[in-house]
Amino acid sequence: MSSVFYSAEEKKFKKEIHEWAQENLKPLAKPAINGDYNAVRKALKLCAEKGLCGAIHDPKYGGTGKGIVWESIIAEEIAGINGAIEMTRLVSATLFGMPLTTYGTEEQKQKYLPKITSGEWIGAIAMTEENAGSDLSMMQTQIVREGDEYVINGHKRYITNGGEADIISLYGVLQNIEDPNPRKRITGVLVETKTKGFKITERYDLSGMEGASVARMEFKDMRVPVENLLGKEGQGFTILMSELNVERIGMAAACVGHAQAAFDIALKYSTERVQFKRPVSTLEGVSFRLADCATKIQATRLLTLEAAKMIDAHKEKEATIAASMAFAYGTEMEIEVTNCCVMTLAGEAITHRTDVVPVMWRMAPVMWVVGGTTDIQKFIIQRELYKPFKKKEKKVAPEAKSK
Ligand SMILES: Cc1cc2nc3c(=O)[nH]c(=O)nc-3n(C[C@H](O)[C@H](O)[C@H](O)COP(=O)(O)OP(=O)(O)OC[C@H]3O[C@@H](n4cnc5c(N)ncnc54)[C@H](O)[C@@H]3O)c2cc1C
Repeated sequence: MSSVFYSAEEKKFKKEIHEWAQENLKPLAKPAINGDYNAVRKALKLCAEKGLCGAIHDPKYGGTGKGIVWESIIAEEIAGINGAIEMTRLVSATLFGMPLTTYGTEEQKQKYLPKITSGEWIGAIAMTEENAGSDLSMMQTQIVREGDEYVINGHKRYITNGGEADIISLYGVLQNIEDPNPRKRITGVLVETKTKGFKITERYDLSGMEGASVARMEFKDMRVPVENLLGKEGQGFTILMSELNVERIGMAAACVGHAQAAFDIALKYSTERVQFKRPVSTLEGVSFRLADCATKIQATRLLTLEAAKMIDAHKEKEATIAASMAFAYGTEMEIEVTNCCVMTLAGEAITHRTDVVPVMWRMAPVMWVVGGTTDIQKFIIQRELYKPFKKKEKKVAPEAKSK
């Protein structure tokens, strides 16, 4: 389904990418499911050649500069082919690339962005640690400024592209800042993985996202030049929060892509499968279930589109709740829709004779976790809803005190 909220140019682009991905990426989806990283790497290179790693980047760095709506269209269409391929692309082009585009210096952009948009290099973003999952303020990786260098010690885990990345935007706690609030000390630096002191300590086996490279890494007395600071010292938490809005929009779009791809297979199958002397699509138990699925997929698409349009219109504050709504709804929608598709295909699903179980249904729980759990999205939504009441409480407080 399309939407009147897409421009004619966006609709044309969506159709073009859909057809291109079916022809060029689909053959790589099967090896990716079987854990073949080379297939995923090849898909990333093809995406880059097609300009799909540069929607948010300026043409002078090899991008197309089209913005987040285009990025969400790409995310939906590539996720419809394979989750590992899309996560690899999204993380390199956008989760690594967006903070660099927004907060990087001209020298940093010139040095790194063309390598990312061309697919020559792979980017990653490293926030999560053993004690810092949902609560990123608990990160303990230490960054110490010594003259013209930052010295990094610590670890990161669950890092997408981590085992293969050339460059990582790494977040840690700058020890040279006195502020007792750890959030105000979190600082981002760009680290090249060929630097001495960088080590991969685990490559995870994955469920649903096979083929992607997700790793744990350690940093031991790793030295990077101060020119690699991302934004300002102590600005890391702010950078992460703005990056996460865009990440959630990409993830929500990916949920739409996975669900739509499963749905298309189930809808067609329901018209072909005959039981009790009629296509099962004529049974309302089946067709009403699919009607609900189509409605929920489209609802997520529109929520995602709204959040993406807000970012493109520089309405960052409004986009926070919109992005979390799209992502939270999207993760639950994907679980429901892919379950429904499995039920519709029945034996055909369980025997892996279509992509519904191996590609889409198994990817659904991954989306619950990556980019912040669905609980955390709901936490953000309620926090934003109650904000005006908190402001009123603050205003009332002094009066109450004087009484
Ligand atoms: C495949 C994969 C790829 C990933 N890629 C990256 C990456 O590229 N870079 C990166 O930095 N990280 C990455 N992550 C990490 C991911 O962002 C975290 O796993 C996620 O944020 C959850 O953290 P956690 O796993 O430590 O869960 P925890 O934070 O330990 O959560 C445990 C449970 O508590 C709930 N919970 C916690 N706090 C709250 C709260 N305040 N309110 C309600 N419920 C709460 C959670 O929802 C969950 O149910 C990846 C993870 C996976 C699995």
